[in-house]
Amino acid sequence: MIIVKNISDLNNIISDQSSKTSNIGLVPTMGSLHDGHLALIRDANKKCDIVWVSIFINPTQFNNLKDYNSYPNEFENDIKKIKSISSNIYVFYPSVSDIYKNGVKSEKFEFNNIDRVLEGKYRPGHFDGVATIVKKLFKAIKPSKVFFGEKDYQQTIIIKEIINSYFPKITLIICPTVRNNDGLALSSRNKLITKKSTKKSAIIFETLLFVKNNFVKISYKQLIKNVKQKIEDISNFKLEYFEIRESETLNPYNEKNKRKSYRAFICVKVEGIRLIDNILIN
Ligand code: AMP
Repeated sequence: MIIVKNISDLNNIISDQSSKTSNIGLVPTMGSLHDGHLALIRDANKKCDIVWVSIFINPTQFNNLKDYNSYPNEFENDIKKIKSISSNIYVFYPSVSDIYKNGVKSEKFEFNNIDRVLEGKYRPGHFDGVATIVKKLFKAIKPSKVFFGEKDYQQTIIIKEIINSYFPKITLIICPTVRNNDGLALSSRNKLITKKSTKKSAIIFETLLFVKNNFVKISYKQLIKNVKQKIEDISNFKLEYFEIRESETLNPYNEKNKRKSYRAFICVKVEGIRLIDNILIN
């Protein structure tokens, strides 16, 4: 397993690899890997000649310092998990100063408001931070395929925009959300909540399934009421947002159009930790 910790070593290896294959895959992560990340890495390993996994807790995508400081870091364990898939995978594990040579700040992007709704509304500047690190990684690693999770659906729309604007040759591969036996979407943040609340968090996906099953039967207004009640009936659970939007554009849902596809998005604060999920509902 080759672990690369700085940009100059990375550049040397990439220039060598690029001369040998044009099928390089990249799986960007913030570490603390779970089966959701591993599914992305396995898919990359199947589809690419060379696979890079980046592990970098990117400070510019955190609008909340407490969230950044409490984000789990389990590097040694992560390496073991990656090795269990293949010891030929390359890991890029840079320091903050290596990535942000001229100060820890985001580039400003224009995403046509996609970055201002849902997650963007509650985490101002988050998607500028995501786009900044993703652009740096794409530029340095020069992947032909990049792998992202449907769990962060809004993020995949932002990645599409970055690819269209700056890296038109890259193919985006979106992998389905991996869940635990109760349906809870796996997330590194699940480690920050108690076992009892983790069990109760199954309500998040159950609620999304309720929305999917009742989308044609119940008005949007009533669905919103039902969702809020289901979530907030549980102590220590608070609904941050629930919204239905058009899948392609993230435009708000007004009235049904048979030719469009819609998604429900939810964020629940469990013991103060934000858990997000989404589902295709038609
Ligand atoms: P993160 O480390 O949280 O930045 O996530 C790295 C990548 O893994 C992102 O593309 C996420 O969307 C993806 N991911 C996170 N959780 C899951 C999951 N439960 N299932 C599938 N992909 C996931």
